[in-house]
Amino acid sequence: MATVEQHSPQTHNGFASTAAQIEVENPATGQTVASVPDMGAESIAEMARRARAAQPEWEALGFEGRGRILLRGQKWLMHNSRQFIATIISETGKTFEDASLAEISYGGNAFGFWARNAPKYLADERVKSSQLLVKGKKLILRYRPLGLIGVIGPWNYPFTNSFGDCIPALAAGNSVILKPSEITPLTSMLMAEGLRECGLPEHVLQIATGRGETGAALVEQVDMIMFTGSTATGRKVAQAAAGRLIPASLELGGKDPMIVLSDADLERAANFATYYSMQNAGQTCISIERAYVEAPVYDEFVAKVSEKVRALRVGAPQGPGSVEVGAITFPPQLKTIEDHVADAVQKGAHVLAGGHAPRTERGRFYEPTVLVDVDHTMKIMTEETFGPTLPIMKVADSEEAVRLANDSPYGLGASVFTRDTRRGEAIARRLEVGAANVNDAMINYTALELPMGGAKASGLGSRHGPGGIRKYCSQQALVITPRLALKRELHMYPYKSRSSRLLAGFFKFLYGRGRRG
Ligand code: NDP
Repeated sequence: MATVEQHSPQTHNGFASTAAQIEVENPATGQTVASVPDMGAESIAEMARRARAAQPEWEALGFEGRGRILLRGQKWLMHNSRQFIATIISETGKTFEDASLAEISYGGNAFGFWARNAPKYLADERVKSSQLLVKGKKLILRYRPLGLIGVIGPWNYPFTNSFGDCIPALAAGNSVILKPSEITPLTSMLMAEGLRECGLPEHVLQIATGRGETGAALVEQVDMIMFTGSTATGRKVAQAAAGRLIPASLELGGKDPMIVLSDADLERAANFATYYSMQNAGQTCISIERAYVEAPVYDEFVAKVSEKVRALRVGAPQGPGSVEVGAITFPPQLKTIEDHVADAVQKGAHVLAGGHAPRTERGRFYEPTVLVDVDHTMKIMTEETFGPTLPIMKVADSEEAVRLANDSPYGLGASVFTRDTRRGEAIARRLEVGAANVNDAMINYTALELPMGGAKASGLGSRHGPGGIRKYCSQQALVITPRLALKRELHMYPYKSRSSRLLAGFFKFLYGRGRRG
């Protein structure tokens, strides 16, 4: 069984001996749990050379050969899930349930999904054309792996948002170098070790541990970059990718709105507001970050949510069922949350639950917090808070709710609660977001058949669905002319008056018939 060694410098990919080390801290306890090499540009260039050398053999295995190894990876993950969950918790401080439901179950599903669907999504497509000049020829659209993919991941979901993006890239036949967040590298290292045990050829998948500079060096080496993180860093990555003319797929920040209409099932809406704003301590790009509630049900909704949020337990996870809200993983995030709450209170907001970082001897936490009397002059309604906070705003009607929901630079996800699902769908269609749920939230992420991506400043491109694997490929058009073809085709040299007139007349007949209207 693979292990990630604790309390000692990590050696992997043979780069550890000389590199400076980065200490990995458990945010729930403050203890150092491991250290990993801080890899520089030279190490990344060497990794890229190895990855490129290994890629053709991996591609040559075909969908079946690659799928077999990915399915072994699925079983490996499930058989080692206890150790896996412990590793995720040790570097994120998240609860057992957040690690198990949103990371391990995603991983298990993703390995199987891409192993099964890669051959379907990337199958050669026979194309028909109405163009006269290609009549009688075989036209094929083919997806070819780009070669070497770079994946840069954040700290909030070390499996789902980091390793998860490697799986379709591998299934397509690419080599991959993954740069996890410096805060949470251990989960990726463990899974890479697991895939090696499952027969993944050497250097097809490598983990580049390091900080932002390591990520920047990776963009300089790869044929395509998949990035998840902040909009500010995403812009830098997109600029670097543009300089090299390589494609970039970006999943960035969000400020997801929830709209509650007066005919909604309020008990369901309140449960969803509580869970999807506080789950993973609010450190999810598609968590509910703000709620707009129609005036007639506002008081009842606020009362229900406040009561539910006050009942949540926050602290260091001690196993299943111990706490609902775990640690704040990223040290600077706590300051952002405190700043947003203080800014709101200073501008007139009232705190109905939480509102502080609890006093603990060790670890980093924030109390699950509900705010009312909020408006769009406050950061908590307009900037990504990424913490266990839910500001709730009263609106006159659905028109005001839609206008305020769209009043954001972000556009990742949204949710609408109403018993009138036709009206809910009509409102969902007007929201400027990549995914909108009616009477649900965030759940679109689990449907790997659907694209998941952002509008506006929330990103470019998407993960999941056919586009989520085709982006790791280039498209090649193939035109095959049969063996028994004319020696010379009608449009070719020498130009002759008769054939040129005939062709011109034919195009006129083909495209110029009928009235101009
Ligand atoms: P970043 O966007 O800075 O980090 C994301 C990844 O990019 C990390 O692996 C990081 O490395 C790496 N990176 C940093 N600089 C560069 C660079 N110039 N070129 C290439 N890669 C780079 O996010 P933060 O961790 O700083 O979080 C900031 C905010 O982003 C949070 O407060 C939150 O609002 C948002 N966020 C959004 C997420 C989402 O799912 N969309 C996930 C996480 C955060 P390293 O961590 O080692 O510096």
